[in-house]
Amino acid sequence: MSGTGVNLGTLAEFNVAVVLDAIRRRPAGVARTEISALTALSGMTVSNVCRRLIDAGLITEQAAPARGRGKPPKILTLNPDGGFAVGVHIDPAVVTYVLIDLAGRVRERIRSATPTVQDPAKVVQEMKTMLDALLLTAGVDRTKVLGIGVASPGPIDPDTGVVLNPPMLPGWHQVELRTALHLATGLPVLIEKDATAAVVSELWFSEAGRLRTFAFLYYGTGFATGIAVDGTAVRGVSSNAGDTAHIPVDPDGPTCYCGRRGCIGLVAAPRTLVAQAVQQGVLTESQAGDTTDVLQVGAAFGLLADAADAGDARAAEILTAAARLIAQALVIVIDLLDIEEIVFGGPFWSRLAPFALTTLPETVRSDRGLVVPHGIRFSESAIPGDVTAVGAAALVLDDAFSPRPEALRI
Ligand SMILES: [Zn+2]
Repeated sequence: MSGTGVNLGTLAEFNVAVVLDAIRRRPAGVARTEISALTALSGMTVSNVCRRLIDAGLITEQAAPARGRGKPPKILTLNPDGGFAVGVHIDPAVVTYVLIDLAGRVRERIRSATPTVQDPAKVVQEMKTMLDALLLTAGVDRTKVLGIGVASPGPIDPDTGVVLNPPMLPGWHQVELRTALHLATGLPVLIEKDATAAVVSELWFSEAGRLRTFAFLYYGTGFATGIAVDGTAVRGVSSNAGDTAHIPVDPDGPTCYCGRRGCIGLVAAPRTLVAQAVQQGVLTESQAGDTTDVLQVGAAFGLLADAADAGDARAAEILTAAARLIAQALVIVIDLLDIEEIVFGGPFWSRLAPFALTTLPETVRSDRGLVVPHGIRFSESAIPGDVTAVGAAALVLDDAFSPRPEALRI
């Protein structure tokens, strides 16, 4: 969304964000007069703000390609090299580090196995080493990095930066990641739940003016959802909004640790589907490996999907049945928030997708519990690669450059 500016000197920072947002959403460039029209800021204000942005190296101004007679207008474009942001996605199996430029392009990406937390200081030291390697490989100076965004399985405490007790990260208890990473790197650090970071990523890269109301279904080791309403990520009081794992969808299903039966977070989890595949003889015990080990589950889930792709009807039915259960949970989410769109992503999504996409939309639409009268769109994340790592980096850009009207309520 391009915000509408306010012509008051005391609100200069908000105006900077409004102008920068208008420029970044028009990669082909935009003239000052157009920015005035788009933002409702005066020509004088736009000129002052643009001067500051040019001086800061965040935008550049040059003559537009000549068209017909007359002097071509000067147009402003984002300077992608004007600043960078780092995103760190802590997945139970792997930690992904990305460096994105101001235009949101991924400039460098590295991965490492997720450390077990015996000694939090060692974990932070390892992360710092990886971050140094990321910047070195990309040839980007640390002074150009605006900050680090960290996305982790929930629950989190974004104020203290504590990764609480994520059920998907055994051994990670009360890890004070934000403070420790800030002290180790000297950079500002933001922390967000993985599914919410994915939402921020989708919003940041959405076309201008689209006020999307959607749920992001993050299909990974765990089952998570993030939510956007009217183009804004919904975080809730403690930034843990959107947890749908304990929606019961199968009254005859296994008992979840919460005491309910057939919670979606349990029955649709890759490890559960792998266990079903063993029971039904699709996979052998040795192919399945240890279903409490996230790496082994990932490999076994791949074998299950391979079997389904190759035409094994039992394997296909396991994945299709999981998609039907996910559809039931999504109906609750859609009704609760009057959502128009479901976006799919996450590390295990691509293997489930061929079966889910043929089953899930129709299952949602024909569910008699679906109360909202409008159509529902289903789409896959537009962010290539690791949407959550890119989202974690986008948190930094979003924090620095998004025009937020609430920032005016000081
Ligand atoms: Zn439960």
